[in-house]
Amino acid sequence: MPRLKIYALLELVPTYKCVCLIKRLSEEGNKAEEMLRNASEQRCEARGLSAVPSKRSVVKLLSSVLALAFLFLLAMTSASPSPTVIIIGAGMSGILAAKTLHDSGIQDILILEANSKIGGRIHSVQFRGHTVELGANWVIGGGPRSNHLYEIAGKLNLKTYLSDYGNISANIYKQEGGLYPKQVVSAALEVAETRDQFCTSFSDRLSASGHNHDDVSILVSQRLFKEVPTTPLDMVIDYFYNDYEDAEPPRVTSLKNTIPRYEFLDFGDQTYFLSDSRGFESILIYIAKQFLSHKHEVIRDQRLKLNKVVREINYSKNGVQVKTEDGSMYQAKYVIVSVSVGVLLNLKQQWKTQAIYEFDMAVYTKIFLQFPSKFWPSGPETEFFLYAHEKRGYYPIWQHLETELPGSNILFVTVTDEEAKRIEQQPDIKIQEEIMDVLKKMFGNDIPEPEEILVPRWWSNRFFKGSFSNWPIGYSQRRHMQLKEPVGRIYFCGEHTYSRYLGYADAAYFAGIETANHLIKCLKHEKYCNGHDRHSTKDRLNNEDPYDPDA
Ligand SMILES: Cc1cc2nc3c(=O)[nH]c(=O)nc-3n(C[C@H](O)[C@H](O)[C@H](O)COP(=O)(O)OP(=O)(O)OC[C@H]3O[C@@H](n4cnc5c(N)ncnc54)[C@H](O)[C@@H]3O)c2cc1C
Repeated sequence: MPRLKIYALLELVPTYKCVCLIKRLSEEGNKAEEMLRNASEQRCEARGLSAVPSKRSVVKLLSSVLALAFLFLLAMTSASPSPTVIIIGAGMSGILAAKTLHDSGIQDILILEANSKIGGRIHSVQFRGHTVELGANWVIGGGPRSNHLYEIAGKLNLKTYLSDYGNISANIYKQEGGLYPKQVVSAALEVAETRDQFCTSFSDRLSASGHNHDDVSILVSQRLFKEVPTTPLDMVIDYFYNDYEDAEPPRVTSLKNTIPRYEFLDFGDQTYFLSDSRGFESILIYIAKQFLSHKHEVIRDQRLKLNKVVREINYSKNGVQVKTEDGSMYQAKYVIVSVSVGVLLNLKQQWKTQAIYEFDMAVYTKIFLQFPSKFWPSGPETEFFLYAHEKRGYYPIWQHLETELPGSNILFVTVTDEEAKRIEQQPDIKIQEEIMDVLKKMFGNDIPEPEEILVPRWWSNRFFKGSFSNWPIGYSQRRHMQLKEPVGRIYFCGEHTYSRYLGYADAAYFAGIETANHLIKCLKHEKYCNGHDRHSTKDRLNNEDPYDPDA
């Protein structure tokens, strides 16, 4: 299996050899703990000396209390040589898992992150003097339930902009240039909307309680509707409805497990584009600061180790041993793996490996361009424009940032799936040439060349291997249960393990909490250690409340 060898980043090896090593390390003990004990003995001594303490004993007592406080702080923020839990990955799910453990009193944790900052697929960067988001960009709000991420964005006064897609009918360009007439697009949009409603009600019927109907792809549902998009205009509209959300075409996407999208039912169908100089990642930093020590916006907690690429996890009945590429080795009782489902794991357990490999890691890429001047229409109802091409998904969805970043002259185009993979394998200059050909078709030959292009390469990045998960047709609910099932002392989280809000940062948020809660239960009662006693898929079907930890 050469594919496995190329991508495999983590080796999860069951072994009993490391048991002695773990014991020896714990016998050596935690120095901070020992110092705490000594200081507490001193305090007892000081108490015992006299009922009315002398000046000297008061000083001694005070210094002991101060030492205690200092050591307590030290114990809180310094990494234990053998923590209870190691968390691999400091993206949204890893940070939420760590915070949940911390809040429950399990504070001897260690987070190992491969990159030089926290965030993972929440990744804000500077581009020509402006903050842009390579990863998560939109937060959802306005629905019956409040969305934690949207709330935090509000609390931090981050600038968010309601995305208005209602203007698409006036903004679809033909392959060779020129806009489609508005009434032609409106008619095509009406068909797409009816088709979408048919897919939703068909999915409802397939999932209706008491029935166990097989799943179908979104494409099959479209065929049953007898209107499959084939023209460039219909295809780009269908792309806007489906691929723009799932990052994979209707042919491969499960109908039952992606429609309806619960994030919109729960949080509302208003999507807010976050564009703020502090970036989307300030939401995660805000969460991290609640339990990790920090100076201003920089997390400086010994329990978070950056630039630590985990290469191997050995586990036994008694503990886990984690090795990193720089040769470090860490011991713990348990480990939580929060890496994306695209990062292949080399596991001995066939069922687990299959559950990981069969799930889809989709690719969704936003390519940013900055121009010396603006040549696209701006003003109300122009933010989004589409390019219809006979090749589905060829530089299809465009967005300008004139509202969010006035005068920045930044445009970005979204590509997905095979096109995104093809594009990111090319040098930037080649991508720029392709893009300029498309822009010239839309806006004429007199447009200026970009000053700079920014192409994220999510698929090639060995720490992600894609953008977010998508539920493929043929992937059973049982498989999805296995996706988050622990293997021995190894627990799993990550957006892909939380089916209710598949793919979104919200999914990662709840996945971290859910997995940590499962582990906390296991630490309290051994009977909860083997296997999940509840499953996201069941939650999804029963429409249970994701906020209720005991649901
Ligand atoms: C282009 C794009 C657009 C998106 N748009 C949106 C959006 O608009 N709204 C939304 O809600 N969501 C969006 N998402 C999805 C959202 O960003 C993710 O669902 C979420 O951030 C995933 O968090 P996670 O913790 O599950 O995984 P990750 O963020 O991938 O965290 C896993 C961490 O593990 C680390 N890691 C990997 N391998 C190793 C290793 N060997 N050793 C140590 N550490 C390792 C990684 O560096 C990473 O930090 C988008 C994602 C992308 C890429």
